[in-house]
Amino acid sequence: MGKTIAIANQKGGVGKTTTAINLAASLAANKKKVLLIDADPQANATSGLGVDPKQMTSSIYECLVDDYPLRGAEVHTCVDGLDLIGSRIDLVGAELELINKTNREKVLGDAIAQIKDAYDYILVDCSPSLGLITVNALTAADSVIIPVQAEYFALEGISKLLNTIRIIKSKLNPVLKIEGFLLTMYDARLRLANQIYEELKSHFGQMVFNTVIPRNIRLSEAPSHGLPALLYDPASRGATSHLQLAKELIAKDRKKADKR
Ligand code: ADP
Ligand code: MG
Repeated sequence: MGKTIAIANQKGGVGKTTTAINLAASLAANKKKVLLIDADPQANATSGLGVDPKQMTSSIYECLVDDYPLRGAEVHTCVDGLDLIGSRIDLVGAELELINKTNREKVLGDAIAQIKDAYDYILVDCSPSLGLITVNALTAADSVIIPVQAEYFALEGISKLLNTIRIIKSKLNPVLKIEGFLLTMYDARLRLANQIYEELKSHFGQMVFNTVIPRNIRLSEAPSHGLPALLYDPASRGATSHLQLAKELIAKDRKKADKR
């Protein structure tokens, strides 16, 4: 059964969507069946994988608001083994429309439960908010990846996110775990970037991924071509670092499975 991982941080521009697209593609390159769910009205993961909303029979909006099943809403992407449930700008309205639903925090989780068997990994790219759609993603998830940008104020807002995760764990989703903090846009030449990595390590220890994602121009160029970095420029550090991240994640999951 597939593992659901939310990629969340209510801070914008920290690398959530870049991580979602490139980790999803890298897991697929490792022969995993992967579904990426775009849960952000800005639909950057959708356009970043070159999917035209016209290709979508339905989007995450219809799944959340009108109870459309996720099965049938998926689009095959340019990456073998990677499907996408796309988003559209009308998803902004879903926050309000969800409020009146019974079990409004569990709509996405119930929908994912019906397709979990078809995938090894289901990644959910969250919007920069802790609104109801992100709460749905965290309630649906087995774990959460928290991208942290190697910049000033990197850890700002993390305690609020951790508090939200704590509340969701106690009230809605007891199995939710932190998969890991992921340092993004890392520039080894900058002392600040190294300080932030050390700070993350001292706060969160084992919960920090060994892999760090470097600042790499290919990662910012690739989405405008509708491609993940590993198809746009496979030799780039942006591509190889995400492949390494996928390997780290798969190895961790294999170790856990062996222990059971
Ligand atoms: P979020 O989804 O958290 O808002 P994005 O993944 O969209 O963040 O990243 C914000 C911006 O930074 C985008 O323009 C993206 O292309 C760029 N970016 C993200 N990660 C990197 C990186 N490692 N190197 C260079 N540019 C990056
Ligand atoms: Mg984003």
